[in-house]
Amino acid sequence: MNGSGIWHAQQAWLGHRAEDVLIEVENGRITSVIEEAQAPPGAVQLKGWTIPGLANVHSHAFQHIIRGRTESGGGDFWEWRRQMYAAAENWDPGDYVKYAMGVFQEMLEAGITAVGEFHYLHGFGNGLGEALIGAARQVGIRITLLDACYLRGGLDGRPLEGIQQTFSDGDADRWVKRVDELKEGEGARIGAAVHSVRAVDPASMRTVAAWARKHNAPLHIHLAEQPAEVEECLAVEGCTPTQLLEREGILGPDLTAIHAIHVNDEDISLLGGSKVAICACTTTERDLGDRVGPIRKLVDAGSPLCLGSDSNAVIDLLEEARGVELDQRRATGRRVLHQPEELFQAATSDGMKALGWEAGELKVGMLADFVTIGERPPVVWRPLDLGYLIYGRVACDVMNVVVGGKTVVSK
Ligand SMILES: [Zn+2]
Repeated sequence: MNGSGIWHAQQAWLGHRAEDVLIEVENGRITSVIEEAQAPPGAVQLKGWTIPGLANVHSHAFQHIIRGRTESGGGDFWEWRRQMYAAAENWDPGDYVKYAMGVFQEMLEAGITAVGEFHYLHGFGNGLGEALIGAARQVGIRITLLDACYLRGGLDGRPLEGIQQTFSDGDADRWVKRVDELKEGEGARIGAAVHSVRAVDPASMRTVAAWARKHNAPLHIHLAEQPAEVEECLAVEGCTPTQLLEREGILGPDLTAIHAIHVNDEDISLLGGSKVAICACTTTERDLGDRVGPIRKLVDAGSPLCLGSDSNAVIDLLEEARGVELDQRRATGRRVLHQPEELFQAATSDGMKALGWEAGELKVGMLADFVTIGERPPVVWRPLDLGYLIYGRVACDVMNVVVGGKTVVSK
């Protein structure tokens, strides 16, 4: 991921639409960006719209295997979780490398250049986490391995059952000891996750957050996806999950809250006031029958927005971006709650920040991750604009992907 070269983009997004853009890259970083430039000999031509690489902030690669399999029968989120747990069993590191390579290749071909793997399959210690890092390295996608602490079956302290037992390290100190043994490398960062307020007690939560802050690493948590979590937290802790995180000192700009659907006005001002990033996973939330979260209110309160493919029922960050808006339209009866620029920022620069990468913008000093949306005949050529990009293009329109100055997809 420390490639060098020169690319010449027909049109590129530099915060505005630019024509004939020359992008020079040395050792994986952008060293110059010049508009209205001639292509020098040897420059790689990028026909179409070139944009920064997309950030998939929340993924569980293994859940890809249940795509389509949970669409018959019936049930709710908890019934889906039972089926998902069955799919979490029986992976070994060799199988997992192979499967994750396929999932990550699908992401790259959709223009995703960095993925956050929210990882809790600890049956082989670090074996399956290292498998994810190895798979990412082999296909050429950046990975932030968000190693999740998972210690109990619910807020009342009930024990772990079945497959959940393999998610657990026993206690937070042992989680620290294991995560300390994971190694970062080119294109791979280690981050921390508290699985949820359900699965981690307050003292252990503080240990995980302290580890993340000591290492300047991203910290993620699943938050208030289902009303049952909020009800149980109110019953046991006497406060909402967000208020519990505030009480324990977990909220901060380094925290990304996944989902944040069942949050009240006080929660929204706590999250926004602490600049906690919110990761919406629309295609999965839709699939699971989750309600529509108050994303507009959270952003207004101060939270940056980012996006994730979560269960990987769909891998298309453009669909995640428009889904955030379109789901809220149906929930509120209003149109254009988010401008296309805001959705684009969620899919690129704010997503990259949540994963700890200096990427997501085509400018000098940034990691050289960029994606070209091509012409797909028959297509009516339109100049690059973000409204058309978000609402009119799909993952399979991605024709070329560069990560760290190396071409990893060229169709
Ligand atoms: Zn998740």
